[in-house]
Amino acid sequence: MGKLKYLVIHCTDTPEEREVTKDDIIRWHTNPKHLGGRGWNRPGYSDIIYLDGELVNIIPFNQDGDVDGWEISNGARGINGVSRHIVYVGGKDKANKKSKDTRTDEQKITLETYVKFMLLRHPQIQILGHYQAPGSGKTCPNFDVPEWLASIGVADKNSYKS
Ligand SMILES: [Zn+2]
Repeated sequence: MGKLKYLVIHCTDTPEEREVTKDDIIRWHTNPKHLGGRGWNRPGYSDIIYLDGELVNIIPFNQDGDVDGWEISNGARGINGVSRHIVYVGGKDKANKKSKDTRTDEQKITLETYVKFMLLRHPQIQILGHYQAPGSGKTCPNFDVPEWLASIGVADKNSYKS
């Protein structure tokens, strides 16, 4: 727990056009392993962006720039105490085989708005894709995050470089 330093972008790693809800995420992450969950004490994301662009909060948080215990989301081992995690629904092709940037236009607009609001409240925050987190071994969120950030006008200092 400390000062908010990172906004980490994720995908749900699910097939294109298939909706995933807040309740699905809570179940997948916090159900005990024998019930098919990961057995985490908290879900992995603070917010989720549905296919139609709707933004839904999973773990409440305030805007004070500290990550308090009650605000923690378990999205990327090692940096959760200084991070907020946002996820869009998708990330796989329809056959659920290949990684793919499946963001709908509506999801892109919401994600851009979300990123820019975070920058407004936290001008020093660094934004990254899950795959950029040290040792993540992931491709999540399955698009080039620094390139996308540059394309929406995010300053270089706010774009995490691994
Ligand atoms: Zn991820």
